[in-house]
Amino acid sequence: MTTPNDNATEDLIRLGESRSAHNYHPLPVVISSAEGAWVTDVEGRRYLDCLAGYSSLNFGHGNPAIIAAAREQLGRLTLTSRAFFHDQFAAFVSGLADLCGKDMVLPMNTGAEAVETAIKVARKWGYEVKGVPGDRANIVVMEDNFHGRTTTIVSFSTDPDAHDGFGPYTPGFRIVKYGSAEAIRDAIDEDTVAVLLEPIQGEAGVLVPPDGYLTSVREICSESGVLFIADEIQSGLGRTGETFACDHEGVVPDMYVLGKALGGGVVPVSAVAANADVLGVIKPGQHGSTFGGNPLACAVGNAVIALLRTGEYQARARELGAFLHERLRELSEAREGRPGIVAVRGRGLWAGIDIDPSLGTGRQVSEALMRRGVLAKDTHGSTIRLAPPIVVSRDDLAWAVDQLAAVLTELAAG
Ligand code: PLP
Repeated sequence: MTTPNDNATEDLIRLGESRSAHNYHPLPVVISSAEGAWVTDVEGRRYLDCLAGYSSLNFGHGNPAIIAAAREQLGRLTLTSRAFFHDQFAAFVSGLADLCGKDMVLPMNTGAEAVETAIKVARKWGYEVKGVPGDRANIVVMEDNFHGRTTTIVSFSTDPDAHDGFGPYTPGFRIVKYGSAEAIRDAIDEDTVAVLLEPIQGEAGVLVPPDGYLTSVREICSESGVLFIADEIQSGLGRTGETFACDHEGVVPDMYVLGKALGGGVVPVSAVAANADVLGVIKPGQHGSTFGGNPLACAVGNAVIALLRTGEYQARARELGAFLHERLRELSEAREGRPGIVAVRGRGLWAGIDIDPSLGTGRQVSEALMRRGVLAKDTHGSTIRLAPPIVVSRDDLAWAVDQLAAVLTELAAG
């Protein structure tokens, strides 16, 4: 595998870069097709996709059941707006509510919109149900969170790139240390309406909180009459080996926030799920989206829900995840005494790997992996994330870890 440096690749990158805002720093690869866990670039080179659209492609590129549902729907009905009902809607909202064990859902499109929805619902619930005086609601959020890019959401981001320069900021958020239940307890007052957190912080580098944390958060929220909102946009829908990352502690939040894989890697589909005493506060005209819950989104979502109902993907992520983490542990041990892997975190088929910074930046590691046919993306300095589609094979995973080993040796040699 060589660096993509052919003219077609370079021309497409140059044109794309010159005519788009530089809000991303993509790896220099131009993908033109994909199947399962593998993608192919415009020069015909194949790469193992270890990012999976930030876990939007949990069920694989071109998953036959999802594509068949999308194709069938495309030929029949794609958009009605919520001004009317359509024949995919009831199955989607009831199927997703059942999957979440909740009474109802509110469908949106992107993850950030679903987070915004959860914030609005929590505030309204605070005023109408909890009795918080008008405009005084606060929500407890976590350091190093990632919930999206809207002005309200970046208002409570602690990442300078995401936050700085976009004020004035939306008030009403209290930021506490992730992983500390005590910090949440201390931050809650009579005007607190919700605690919002990721059960595993993905963009922060796959940070898994201490055992028992989610259970304690649940207890604190219940004792204080505060909603527990779990942003499972990246951690949910099979990735960690359970339907939801909260399932690992048997914890049920008051509101699930879902996105990414809910759209099967085909269309943006997001939603919040909660019981009627919470989501019921939203009345006609108070929230919505032209595209939220559209027929194509619902048809794709229905196919995704059917895949999750089988439990096969959750089981596969558990088994392959155990294998991946075992291989990473072996690699880490094999490099003891030499610069290599500083730490590996994760759950299920999801790993955050801190590379010894003396070897290079996460970006350099990602580029070196790309040259060897593995697509992975760095986050925060020297962390690499591995989150391939759950359809990936064991051999592919072993091969990807071998490539990482080779990259570490390469970088150590200078
Ligand atoms: N919440 C979490 C936990 C995420 O990981 C992301 C995206 O990475 C979002 C929200 C935002 O989703 P979107 O990019 O679809 O707006």
